Amino acid sequence: MTKRDWRILVTNDDGIRAPGLLALADAAQAHLGEVTVVAPDREQSGASHALTIRHPVRLEEIRPGWHLVEGTPTDCVNLGFFHELGRPPDLVLAGVNRGYNIGEDVTYSGTVAGALEGRILGAPSLAISTAPHATEEDFALAARVAVRLAELVLTRGLPLDAFLNVNVPPSARGYRITRQGRRVTREGLAAGRDPKGRDYFWVGLAPAEWPHAPGADHSAVADGFISVTPLHADLTFHRALPLVQEWNLEDGPAP
Ligand code: MN
Repeated sequence: MTKRDWRILVTNDDGIRAPGLLALADAAQAHLGEVTVVAPDREQSGASHALTIRHPVRLEEIRPGWHLVEGTPTDCVNLGFFHELGRPPDLVLAGVNRGYNIGEDVTYSGTVAGALEGRILGAPSLAISTAPHATEEDFALAARVAVRLAELVLTRGLPLDAFLNVNVPPSARGYRITRQGRRVTREGLAAGRDPKGRDYFWVGLAPAEWPHAPGADHSAVADGFISVTPLHADLTFHRALPLVQEWNLEDGPAP
């Protein structure tokens, strides 16, 4: 693998101190080209595609090429494009996230949102995640996988609006091209009472149940394979268009 001259923007949602970010930036710098890191100053897991619009966002360069932002991954990608680089990079990499982004997690994930924002703003992108208990070695493996896929995306291209969601289990046995899976949703609320006597809740704590489904991202990861899922920045569900058209809304009462 040879070093190329691509300009790569790297972000994450685990925050600028996360080991997965360092692993990814190092691998990209070694094999892809010039790396600019713009990452949240603290953990933003679950931030999804939030954009900070009610107060200003600050950016600080903490060492050459590394910038922390008091904001979300989506803020970071915007600052990377329009402040640090001044134009779209050749590729946006988001990760390596601590914890898989599979099934419906994709919709909550700040990591996936970082890649989504890159795609929306005009650069090919990929999100990369590994196990919740990942070691330095596991992050390094995921970063190598990201580099391999990045080279393919950069040389072979992807359709407009497409980006990749990649999940790398430790000691991965190979690759599987997958679709977004689905978990069984259960009640996930834990309630308690704080020292001032007010109720509080922790949401989303239900242990996930993932029924095995051939071709799904979670099944690939459960079987020890790297899951590569092409995602679409356009959320339109094209198969549902004819059904909604059949409602003949224009024939009913005026709005
Ligand atoms: Mn995270």
